Amino acid sequence: KDYKTSVPIVWCPGCGDFGVLNAMQQAAAELQLPPENLMVVSGIGCSSRIAGYINSYGFNSIHGRALPIAAGAKLARPELTVWAAGGDGDGYSIGTNHFVHTIRRNPDITYIVMDNHIYGLTKGQVSPTTPHGDVTKSTPQGNPERPLNPLALALELGATFIAQGFSGNVKHLRDLIVQATRHKGFALVNVKSPCVTFRGRQEFNVIREHGVYLDESHDPSDWNQAHEVTQWTDKVPLGVIYKVEGVPTLEGVAEEARKKALERRSFESTTELIEVFR
Ligand code: SF4
Repeated sequence: KDYKTSVPIVWCPGCGDFGVLNAMQQAAAELQLPPENLMVVSGIGCSSRIAGYINSYGFNSIHGRALPIAAGAKLARPELTVWAAGGDGDGYSIGTNHFVHTIRRNPDITYIVMDNHIYGLTKGQVSPTTPHGDVTKSTPQGNPERPLNPLALALELGATFIAQGFSGNVKHLRDLIVQATRHKGFALVNVKSPCVTFRGRQEFNVIREHGVYLDESHDPSDWNQAHEVTQWTDKVPLGVIYKVEGVPTLEGVAEEARKKALERRSFESTTELIEVFR
């Protein structure tokens, strides 16, 4: 299947998001997802343009709101594969509320965050994941705040699948997206995806130097090991950090509730039945 679209790509040359787009398209091909059964919901920002670049149902939605829309779509149409996508400014700032509550509900969706440590679309302001001390357009004296750690936050909140990839390694990232999509429940794939315009091309080298690919010595089912990895400060973990199966999904819980409601009541007419689900 061809997962490309004719929508002109307007990212800056060399932007890390090209690697993420390639990885998502390759993952869709590997999973043999019919485009009509794939939905990509994004928020707002440079990376959120990705919903228009993948041959699927694409919805470039509103700032920080990709997750509730994606979860709602999955609830209404559980047969669809639903990917939510966006950036760190979108998902980990204005979208934090939805990040927290979506993890709590565990819908069977995959959230791919292009984490570039900056607000790119609005021209280079400090973001929730900008490292402490970094100079940005809005922090000319250096970022005075400590960055948010999305991996640790997701783990503490009970996310059932947490991975981190790098847009400079498309094959590895494709494999992570495939695993995340096959996982039954909410899957976070945080992607180090450099903004070459506002953080410089050297960012790719920084991640290459500090990236550590998790090998078989890391057991993703071990919460304590996962916790240790999320606390690394001088290394960037790459791979599946945590994974737990068998946690009820939002769709599963809703279906159970629907069945129980039907069992409890006898209905005199179709109209009465419809009223129950209004
Ligand atoms: Fe990519 Fe940065 Fe350009 Fe946005 S501003 S397209 S994140 S390089």
